[in-house]
Amino acid sequence: MKINKAWHLKNKVPKNATLKDKIKWHEGHAKNCSCRDSATHLKKMKAKQKENRS
Ligand SMILES: [Zn+2]
Repeated sequence: MKINKAWHLKNKVPKNATLKDKIKWHEGHAKNCSCRDSATHLKKMKAKQKENRS
């Protein structure tokens, strides 16, 4: 696992991030860094988003 420190410094997660913010963050993160398993998080968060919509 490698951390893209420069990307993290530029892309901090807001303290009161909504689910939408987090999904956006992880989508960017998945493309730029592999310190966390964003793919798994995205799957879970998108499932949650669908639940909330109904
Ligand atoms: Zn990262």
